[in-house]
Amino acid sequence: MKALVKSSDSHGIWMEDVPQPICKANEVKIKITHTAICGTDLHIYEWDEWAQRNLNLPLIIGHEFCGVIEEIGSGVTHYKTGQRVSGEGHITCGYCRNCRAGKRHLCHKTIGIGIHRSGAFAEYLVIPETNIWPIDNIDSEIAAFFDPFGNAVHTTLSYNITGEDVLITGAGPIGLMSTAICNFVGARNVVVTDVNDYRLKLAMKMGATKTINTSKDTINEYFNELNMVSGFDVGLEMSGNSVAFNSMLDNMYNGGNIALLGLLPNNTKVNWDHVIFKGLNIKGIYGREMYETWYKMTQMLKSGLNISKVLTHKLKIENYNEAFEIMASRNCGKIVLEW
Ligand code: NAD
Ligand code: ZN
Repeated sequence: MKALVKSSDSHGIWMEDVPQPICKANEVKIKITHTAICGTDLHIYEWDEWAQRNLNLPLIIGHEFCGVIEEIGSGVTHYKTGQRVSGEGHITCGYCRNCRAGKRHLCHKTIGIGIHRSGAFAEYLVIPETNIWPIDNIDSEIAAFFDPFGNAVHTTLSYNITGEDVLITGAGPIGLMSTAICNFVGARNVVVTDVNDYRLKLAMKMGATKTINTSKDTINEYFNELNMVSGFDVGLEMSGNSVAFNSMLDNMYNGGNIALLGLLPNNTKVNWDHVIFKGLNIKGIYGREMYETWYKMTQMLKSGLNISKVLTHKLKIENYNEAFEIMASRNCGKIVLEW
């Protein structure tokens, strides 16, 4: 089969012929129809320091996908061939304390598809039955990025945001989807910051109350316009940028809640006075809840949440190099490749 393989420790990704994966007991083989590009895939494409430190090559990359079940292994009970599915890219051990407590997103033995084992930029993918998420009445090109949509849903629903003033730092695909979710669940103000005007424009389309390019403007000069007195009730950090995180701390209201999704550099300096004297809550986010987040994602889409505007580019898989370069320019929302 054809697959996008990171086969050499240099910039780029290559389409290669590789053996099809074998579908073993309790596993499902999916014929992939759509794969979306994640920021992680871009790290691997660009072969940055994180990728060099974390990957063993060769590797078929990709973990955001949608496809059709081609084959089921022995012991598979809930799925049949021909069904349209997506799936969770974190494979958990099932036996650790957290897994057995139903908190699989906190498993300390998690294995990532497209990172630690073969991924979804391929004609076929095999994953455990327990990782399958069935899709009905949702477009495959949307289902292809359920994985980051799940990051957005898990982060955004961490706190009660109905009627609250929310600050989202970072209008990447996840921040953009979070903007739509905040609106859907009834936040009062949804303020989105970025340093990229293309993405801030998209944030307005996703329903932001106000967007602020923090390379030109400060956040608090808009408090009056937004009828805000002292700061934000909820902060969703989705940039991974330490300046953005500190601007969030500056602009939180006392007792506010923050969820950290963006991967901040380890040497990020924090003004702890804000955290302590404002009595802020800070929660780290990794992945999405298995499978409560998947349930919420599906039901919110079925009840009218619209995230389709985040999908800015659809390309054929043959044009993968062009797609990765668009992704690298960051003048895009989600990019989906069709097989
Ligand atoms: P992305 O890199 O596409 O988006 C980040 C955005 O932040 C960009 O648009 C960038 O212009 C913006 N930004 C940069 N500096 C800024 C500043 N000073 N103020 C405001 N915005 C600024 O990423 P994404 O795919 O949307 O993901 C968001 C973040 O979440 C990334 O850091 C990603 O690595 C991380 N992530 C974490 C998890 C997890 O499980 N914790 C999962 C997926 C992604
Ligand atoms: Zn576990």
